[in-house]
Amino acid sequence: MRKNRRYILLAVGIVGATALAAIGPSGPTPDDGAALHQALADLKKDRLQEAENLAMRLATEGEKPYPRAWAVVAAARQRHGQYASAVRAYRLLLGSTNSPQIREYVMAQMAACEAALNPPSAQPYGKRLTASDRAELAQVEEQPYTESSEHFVIRAKNSRLAKLLATESEVSLERVCRVIHAGEAYPHSVEINVWADPEEYAGNAKDPRPWACGSFSIYTRDGATVRQIDLTQRDKAGQFSADMLDRVLPHEMCHLILREHFGDATCPLFLNEGLAMLAETEIDNARILLAGTALASKAKIPLESLLVRQGDDLKKPEVFYAEAFSFTAYLHSRLTAEQFRDFLDNIKQGCTVADALQRALYSPHDDKFLAEVASAWEDHAVTQAQYLKALRDAATGRKTPENWNPR
Ligand SMILES: [Zn+2]
Repeated sequence: MRKNRRYILLAVGIVGATALAAIGPSGPTPDDGAALHQALADLKKDRLQEAENLAMRLATEGEKPYPRAWAVVAAARQRHGQYASAVRAYRLLLGSTNSPQIREYVMAQMAACEAALNPPSAQPYGKRLTASDRAELAQVEEQPYTESSEHFVIRAKNSRLAKLLATESEVSLERVCRVIHAGEAYPHSVEINVWADPEEYAGNAKDPRPWACGSFSIYTRDGATVRQIDLTQRDKAGQFSADMLDRVLPHEMCHLILREHFGDATCPLFLNEGLAMLAETEIDNARILLAGTALASKAKIPLESLLVRQGDDLKKPEVFYAEAFSFTAYLHSRLTAEQFRDFLDNIKQGCTVADALQRALYSPHDDKFLAEVASAWEDHAVTQAQYLKALRDAATGRKTPENWNPR
């Protein structure tokens, strides 16, 4: 409990809100304790060089160096934009603590530094569109246009959108294959139909779903297998649906590829939806927040029931989707590509999730395995949500309540 609170305060403090003084116990001597408070105060006031120098002295010099001070060195460097040297300081901090909460926080900061050093080449396409792009892409012309790419044939009543989808669908395919670690090149062709609005989609899509604006289907036409994705160009308000590019297209494509991958075998709903959400172009922080908050409250769906839940018994669909995403992303990040592929193959062969995981990890069967995985995942999900909440509160200037500690 106390550790958790300290972790939250550490996170909040380092991202610039209040409560810096509560970073942890004072230094080994009263003088060092005062120096640490001074370094924290410098950090808070953006006197980054002073904070770094003072904390560096505490971390490395004196009779009893105080390694926790690397947190201040690292944060000062990170804020300065010196990401590579910030990562070195975070590593030293990591080596000095066994606290899972602080380790989790440090890993997140290191990931943020790495991301700043290697920015992704492009934002999701939908985010890069200007108002005039959107207006143009919302236009519905008389005749449909057909465009083709290596794996897709696209029909849309907007020539620019058809061309755009020819490129973006290949980008999505690459992402989906990376997420499910399907090593080989995708051998099929997929038809993509873009309907003008939700009404046209509902009336014409092969297998429309009333609550969605996109779907996939696999069926036979003239003796040949047809793979089809139906999408909607405009939302209910008549605006171009950028979500269609960034979310619906990769999501439905992932479902389609998983359906073929599993054949007659059943892919558990949590995994099917979790992977489809993971294939979307942008991580949805709302899902991470909801998963962590639900797991720490009465709304929690325990892992055991998450794994076996079916579409017709979804009482709390938002929580189910958030936890399904969180758990799938957790497994995906903890397993190597080979292990994850083995895990999917084991599921396909009819193993339970626990057995499929143990086999993929070459670990002997253990009845307590699933409970241990559940506990590690829940800790991770709750910490992730706390971290996001601390960042959000820091950005809005809101102080994280000290009693916001769901575990
Ligand atoms: Zn889905």
